[in-house]
Amino acid sequence: MTDDKLYCRVVLKEATRQFDQEYTYAVPEELRSEIATGSLVEVPFGRGNRQVDAYCIALQSQPPSDFYIKPLVKIKSDRPVLTDDQIELAVKMRERYLCTYGAALRCMTPSTVMSVGDRMVRFAALVDPTEAAARLSSGEIDRLGHVRVIQMLLDYESIPTYELQSACQVSAAVLKTLEKKGLISFFRGEVRRELEDDLNLPAIQPDFKLNDAQETAVNRICESMIQASEQFSWQECLLYGITGSGKTEVYLQSARQALADGKGVIILVPEISLTPQMVARIKSRFGNKVAVLHSRLTPAERYEQWQRILREEVLLVVGARSAIFAPLKSIGLIILDEEQEGSYKSETHPRYHARDIARMRAYMHHSALVLGSATPSVESYYRSQSGRSILLGLPERIGSAGLPRTIIADMRQELRDGNRTIFSYPLQQALRNIQEQKQQAMIFINRRGHSGFVLCRSCGQTVKCNTCSVSMTNHASLDRSSGYDPRRSEQQEQLICHYCGKITRMPKKCPVCGSSQIGRFGVGTQQVEEHLARAFPGIRTLRMDQDTTAGRSAHAQILKKFADHEADILIGTQMIAKGHDFPNVTVVGILAADQLLGMSDFRASERAFQLIVQAAGRAGRASEAGQVIIQAYNTDDYAIQAAAAQDYEAFYKQEIAFRKMMKYPPFGSIGLIVLAGANDNEVRDRIDRLYRAMLKWQNDNPDFLRISLTEPGRAPLSRIRGRYRWRILLYGEHQAAIAEFMAHTVGAEDMAPLTVTIDVDPWQML
Ligand code: ADP
Ligand code: ZN
Ligand code: ZN
Repeated sequence: MTDDKLYCRVVLKEATRQFDQEYTYAVPEELRSEIATGSLVEVPFGRGNRQVDAYCIALQSQPPSDFYIKPLVKIKSDRPVLTDDQIELAVKMRERYLCTYGAALRCMTPSTVMSVGDRMVRFAALVDPTEAAARLSSGEIDRLGHVRVIQMLLDYESIPTYELQSACQVSAAVLKTLEKKGLISFFRGEVRRELEDDLNLPAIQPDFKLNDAQETAVNRICESMIQASEQFSWQECLLYGITGSGKTEVYLQSARQALADGKGVIILVPEISLTPQMVARIKSRFGNKVAVLHSRLTPAERYEQWQRILREEVLLVVGARSAIFAPLKSIGLIILDEEQEGSYKSETHPRYHARDIARMRAYMHHSALVLGSATPSVESYYRSQSGRSILLGLPERIGSAGLPRTIIADMRQELRDGNRTIFSYPLQQALRNIQEQKQQAMIFINRRGHSGFVLCRSCGQTVKCNTCSVSMTNHASLDRSSGYDPRRSEQQEQLICHYCGKITRMPKKCPVCGSSQIGRFGVGTQQVEEHLARAFPGIRTLRMDQDTTAGRSAHAQILKKFADHEADILIGTQMIAKGHDFPNVTVVGILAADQLLGMSDFRASERAFQLIVQAAGRAGRASEAGQVIIQAYNTDDYAIQAAAAQDYEAFYKQEIAFRKMMKYPPFGSIGLIVLAGANDNEVRDRIDRLYRAMLKWQNDNPDFLRISLTEPGRAPLSRIRGRYRWRILLYGEHQAAIAEFMAHTVGAEDMAPLTVTIDVDPWQML
């Protein structure tokens, strides 16, 4: 019998910022052998001793004070659900992203990991599929989210609600509404646990013999791993290599080294459902010793993968953004493929960037971090130029193809020459060629540009959603047949708001001035498909955009069809620019390449440059050299010019000068505060008060006077889902100072009933 007591320090799983701190509880005698740091426990909290969930983050034998210390109630997990470094990470995230411990830890413990052993989940199914299909085609269902759910259930019969919500991007409330309308019903059912992918593993393939540049890169990365581990530090490498230069091979062979040393490896890809080839390649090297994590896993699958990692059955993890939190015990190497991608930044709370988390974990695990890209972000390239990371280059494409030939088509000139179509003469010629020679083409349009909006030619207004401040996009009727059918003369037109999902009929008159001079303007993927069908009779097209890709495996199906040459042209948004290898594609057309430039965002040029280069990289990946036609109005812009010349350095030199002059990242940091609420005046008053409080705090704490604040103003997206949005921007030299400033000011105030969004170095400033 020992007299020693044991205490545990915990943080709450759910807490407001006010209660978000460490608390100490006594560990009862009988639980001492079971408890560990990382355990999920239940503790009595507050005056009423309400029982709440908490994580044990440390154990100690000394009581924190002489006061009575409450004992914890029970331990809810049979083994720790967190690793030590995850706890340390949560502490850092809390400081950096102004979130609670619980919010940070939720990133590291998928909800299903908590419901240990629970195989039964809630499913949704259509009450009457025939009736649902009829109500869908009658136009009675007028919300994009509702349409997606019903279409998906028509395809799959029944789906776990969790999965349905994530695949259709709808909330639980939407499912509830559909239930009330008598369209869907719920039941509890068991989910299958086997991982479908493991059943048909590709044959194991040997490594390629590396070329010189690849070999240098792999050697340097392996050296970095050794140095980081020996010196208890970390190292960052930037692997800069054009598309098709063999970066993936470098990742795989470096990973093999780390695994051989018994270390864990995380490979992050921007969006895993868009990169099936990458996953297939990894599996063909490492068999089923890989855990694949992505957003379309069912809860049971995610649970199973997480457990395999926690039990150390797998050391290699591949996944999208959230996989950076994978509970590996000892990490040797972290790789971010396409490190410049926006999908690495979380747009929900906590608004972390996977690249920053990767740096934190590399630092804690003494590992190497490899950022790979054909068009590195300006921030990452700057780090390599200023000695904070090691630049590794793969200057040549593998194989004989060489770079594609690039043409900029000046659409103003085309118009002067009498071309009123959306395709420039050079693109028309190129498409005729592929039709004759039985090759394939890809056509990109900008999703973020104003494609397919409806404009009044009398008053110049666009038709906007009446609950959001954004232009609505027009689409042919969303019935279940995919693809444009030129024989159906009257395609019914609808307008969709891509923020709230509302669908309305195309108005006959301008809602603002009543003029009937109203029509669609710009192009969407559907219009491109229609124009192609008219201009090139017999051409077979496929289209990939938000509307055609709601289902679970829709992406993969479309890509497979295209790879099997069931279509001649693939039309799509940025989505199709990533990671696919289609050897038969010899022509790439980029429509309205300059549309991104007009965005009120300091990264507009960078994004335009990246998109064009990436899209161009899709042409001629096999033996045949490709041809790229870039259509633009603003042809003199440096981003367009540099992209056409495939000249990253030229672009970087201009861009970095601009960033330096403006003190934008990497020369400074930005904080964004958005306040939103249903009452415009209330939001404005509240943000005015906040602004004055911030100025006062700054005056009282002169260290922070170097941070500058903008006066409160309407956000560019001034209204979303009926809520008015106002914002304040902060500019300063150091991210940490901005985070601290925001924590003391906006973080300390109660904004209810308004919602507040805080973002440090936002990806989108809208
Ligand atoms: P990236 O990731 O830079 O786009 P990949 O790694 O996909 O480039 O390589 C492009 C193509 O070249 C792939 O089909 C790949 O299998 C092949 N490849 C890569 N490295 C080698 C090599 N050392 N020898 C032969 N083929 C290679
Ligand atoms: Zn809307
Ligand atoms: Zn009008």
